[in-house]
Amino acid sequence: MTTLSDVAVPAALVEALRDAGPVLICGHARPDGDSLGSVMAMAIALRRLGRPVRTLCSDPAPAPFLVFPHMDTLEITREVDAAGATVIVMESSALGRTGVAGFEQANAILNIDHHLGNTAYGTVNWFDEGAAACVEMVADAIDALGVPWDADIATYLYLGLLTDTGGFRHSHISARSFELARRCVLAGADPVHIGQVAYDSFSLGRVRLIGELLHGMRLEAGGRLAVLTLTPDVHVRAGSSPDETEGLINMPFTAQEIRAVCLLRNDEDGVTRVSLRSKGLIDVRAVAQEFGGGGHKNASGFTVAESLEAVEARLLPLVLDALR
Ligand code: 5GP
Ligand code: MN
Repeated sequence: MTTLSDVAVPAALVEALRDAGPVLICGHARPDGDSLGSVMAMAIALRRLGRPVRTLCSDPAPAPFLVFPHMDTLEITREVDAAGATVIVMESSALGRTGVAGFEQANAILNIDHHLGNTAYGTVNWFDEGAAACVEMVADAIDALGVPWDADIATYLYLGLLTDTGGFRHSHISARSFELARRCVLAGADPVHIGQVAYDSFSLGRVRLIGELLHGMRLEAGGRLAVLTLTPDVHVRAGSSPDETEGLINMPFTAQEIRAVCLLRNDEDGVTRVSLRSKGLIDVRAVAQEFGGGGHKNASGFTVAESLEAVEARLLPLVLDALR
């Protein structure tokens, strides 16, 4: 079987995946399509090999994703007894990004990620920064195990690929991404259905939230930077909930002149969560790192225990610098 990747699946990883013992698979907190897709595709493949698998997440999946197969097997928990198990962590640059405590007790941790700056917390660490989505790596791992893709595996691989590339548009997308998409469709993934679930299955409250957010949008740097702020009162006005904000940061980008977007949220008292996006060479990962966060050059984030106003005052000069 030819590998889709430039970075070979490590032999130690394949060996650890082939082992017979119990497995816990977890992605990052507030799961997105790539995190869930990576977790679920790997879970289905390992169950096919007869391994006992539990899938975990610190937060519930976005509600529309519950239509996908086996989603009822995803356990929502913030603590687990991992003693005696192998843990597979997807898409998490540090173990804390899982939002689940207890993985330190595991027999082994297999760390699979496509972000720059992963802290290499695993027993086996496998990084491929050239992958447009973590599912590109998971697809190679499943191939290395010799598990044929069924429609369920293909559905999750396609979900991760579609969402992490922003609908096949973001950087890192390559011929490899389209080869994966092709194989997913051949194996039974339905791109129309998955696309509708990912992009056209939101609540009416979220549609109103788009209006509220864009109404409050501020422009800086001569109109090249858009700043969005999201406070609980905005959700009240829109009739939306804080777990419905995925993807909203991209709205200002549909204007050609916008080169970077900051979205600042304070869902909890005294905690501010920031998402940063940019186009082209503008590096917002470096900005996020100044606040202890990370991600990719064009998509990064961080969370700090400071007021939204205080974070914004420190953040904007750094983003304006990055725009120069
Ligand atoms: P989002 O804005 O969608 O939450 O995150 C965008 C990107 O930044 C993702 O690749 C995500 O992994 C990364 N990211 C977001 N928050 C953090 C954080 O607190 N730490 C690190 N290392 N990466 C983050
Ligand atoms: Mn990803």
